[in-house]
Amino acid sequence: MSEPIIKIKDLDITYNLGKENEYKATHSINMDIYPEEFIAFFGPSGCGKSTVFYSILGILEPSAGQLLVKGENPYSFSPEKMVKFQTKIIGIIYQAFYLINSLSVIDNVVLPQIFHGVTPARRRHWALQILKRFGMDEHGEKYPDNLSGGQSQRVSVARSMVNNPDILLADEPTGNLDSVSSRQVMESLKEINDVDKKTVIMITHNAAQLSYCHRVFYLKDGKLERIVPNPEKKQIAKVDKQKILVTEMDQLSKIFPYSSPVELKVKSLVNYLTQDLNFYQLQRLESLTQLVVERKVSNDEFARMLNKEYNEGGIDLNMPVAKHMAERVDKILKQAEDARRYRRRFISNNFFSRENILVRRLTKYIIDEYRGKLSPVQKKRMRDLVYKRISGLVSRREFKDMLRLSFENGGVGIAKTSSRKLTQYFEKILMQGIESKGHGH
Ligand code: ADP
Repeated sequence: MSEPIIKIKDLDITYNLGKENEYKATHSINMDIYPEEFIAFFGPSGCGKSTVFYSILGILEPSAGQLLVKGENPYSFSPEKMVKFQTKIIGIIYQAFYLINSLSVIDNVVLPQIFHGVTPARRRHWALQILKRFGMDEHGEKYPDNLSGGQSQRVSVARSMVNNPDILLADEPTGNLDSVSSRQVMESLKEINDVDKKTVIMITHNAAQLSYCHRVFYLKDGKLERIVPNPEKKQIAKVDKQKILVTEMDQLSKIFPYSSPVELKVKSLVNYLTQDLNFYQLQRLESLTQLVVERKVSNDEFARMLNKEYNEGGIDLNMPVAKHMAERVDKILKQAEDARRYRRRFISNNFFSRENILVRRLTKYIIDEYRGKLSPVQKKRMRDLVYKRISGLVSRREFKDMLRLSFENGGVGIAKTSSRKLTQYFEKILMQGIESKGHGH
């Protein structure tokens, strides 16, 4: 793997340093971004996304810590070198486009080249070529006032690429666009990343766009809270195996981007306990389940709480139902301990055996959930699958398909409904078995 193209270590940025209104906007941020990665900075408004972003651009000097772009500290550059850096190394697009209304589209696009002594004829030729790539060559003679939002952003994408920079910074590039134009712009960014092999860093508020990225950097209160790799993308950075295996966590974190890992686990369990509960009961159930996930109440206490009336802090379930629910949660959490132990050892790379006792036990939990009968060979294939899934060698989908695939064709050979149910059950165990220590609240 190559060296990071951007390296940030213990970065602090304080606004109005030494003044009465001094404000520390980032706290000891560490991040390494590798060439050809597509990264999102994600988090609630005011969390510090723009602060980090503009410090990478060279216009917001760190108060403490280190920031290197291609191995160099931009804040040590002479003014001439800074211009080169901001036009040849880094391209940028903004939410508000910032096209110059008194210049034609072509002149807007070639503006960054003026600083580099390119002749007007060559500039024009090149502008048309690059506008063509982004579907805007027919609008070259127009002025920005006559363009739609989507067209304006495509022009600014062309402008950002005109000097063939290594890094593209995009500050909420679709914040002002309708869904069709947003999609076009996102597809352009994807192409710039995939085809031109540029490193792309994007600020976004839109969870749907995270699927374009290799990794998502979640910021909160000026801190880098967590880094989530996208399981659907082949990773460039070396990522923790532990963080890429379980897809339900990743999916939930896309739907509930501001929830901590513990909160996501709670949601996963609550969703498993499918009941006809109203919204208030569901909310209450989440807070009670959180006590269980955090091991603050016992199984019996949990059942009693569920049984209590709503105005006494419960959710009015009758006792048999409450007990049944508490048992189901308890069972999954206990079984998840084995998954957790296995993962811990697997991650420290000190064993890889499908005959391991933990794999056998986890297989047994699934077989116990299965109502039908299985032959010894079917059980062996099941064990093999459990081993592969928990080691991250197959996806959730492949796991389910192999359960269902006929015995003659090498599968376990169980019915469609059961394979779906068993897969869901096993994923619940895996989800609860993820280590959440050190993350979350
Ligand atoms: P985001 O991009 O995630 O919305 P910002 O990086 O813009 O967040 O802001 C982070 C924090 O720093 C916010 O609390 C914001 O009010 C503060 N901040 C941003 N710019 C300035 C500034 N020029 N002077 C003082 N405080 C600022």
